Amino acid sequence: MFYLLNNLIQMKILLNNETLHKTLKPFDNIGFVPTMGGIHEGHISLINKSIKYTDKTIVSIFVNPKQFNSKRDFISYPSNIKNDLAILKKIPKIDFIYIPKFKDIYESKDKSKIVIKRSDKILCAKFRKGHFEGVLDVMDKLTNLIKPKKIFMGKKDYQQLFLVKNFIESNYKTKVIGCKTIRNKNKLALSSRNFLLDKKDLKKVENISKKFLKLKNEVKKHKYINKFLGQTKRKFEKLLDIKIEYLENRNVKNLKISNKYLKSKIFLSYHFKGIRLIDNF
Ligand code: AMP
Repeated sequence: MFYLLNNLIQMKILLNNETLHKTLKPFDNIGFVPTMGGIHEGHISLINKSIKYTDKTIVSIFVNPKQFNSKRDFISYPSNIKNDLAILKKIPKIDFIYIPKFKDIYESKDKSKIVIKRSDKILCAKFRKGHFEGVLDVMDKLTNLIKPKKIFMGKKDYQQLFLVKNFIESNYKTKVIGCKTIRNKNKLALSSRNFLLDKKDLKKVENISKKFLKLKNEVKKHKYINKFLGQTKRKFEKLLDIKIEYLENRNVKNLKISNKYLKSKIFLSYHFKGIRLIDNF
């Protein structure tokens, strides 16, 4: 109870850019956690990292329409500000929550000049046209507004982390810190999109996820890992009744296709009953 009251007093909600500027002006060592809401333990782990490594922590909640390549996906995105604030209020030491409106982020009518290199049009960039252009655009705008020392992002969205880190660190003095993927007790990577699943489907997805995670050990036995993953993709689509977008082994440093086990990860995206889930392991 004390914690709750204490944090209610401490945590300030910023609803527009004027308040944001005024409030952040005196601070230098700011840690920033960008989110689209639907707050879960994955987000909370990033927030705790920021609290540990910076002086002031700001969390943004903004469902960025420009990074959705499907209107249906945008409309059904499971963000609920009231729930989110109730969760965030329980975390001691969050300083600011920034909840901008569309016009706060996209004040200028100038068209974004962000382009994704051809060689980066892999994985999610290949299947979600315009998605990362939208992500980099909003991260550019948010970084400009907040001027954080450090941004904390999840390795669960590894390609996003890779592109944002390259972009932000070459344009700002800000560091982008990758944080480990938080999973539930059945090893399913936490995601706001999991809130779209009912209990029965969540169980199904957990079982599907277990099958994929086992591949990490399996690939060790294969010389041509990606050939094996290609065969597995076809097999799993039939067996598990899902549509797999990609299942590929790639180098963690440059995201190039790799047939090596070391310094690489398996990247996965699939659709279960119309819900798009991603993971890497
Ligand atoms: P989102 O709200 O989905 O845009 O995610 C906001 C941030 O939380 C991003 O940096 C994500 O990578 C990160 N994130 C999402 N899920 C997890 C997770 N399970 N573990 C760690 N970080 C996560």
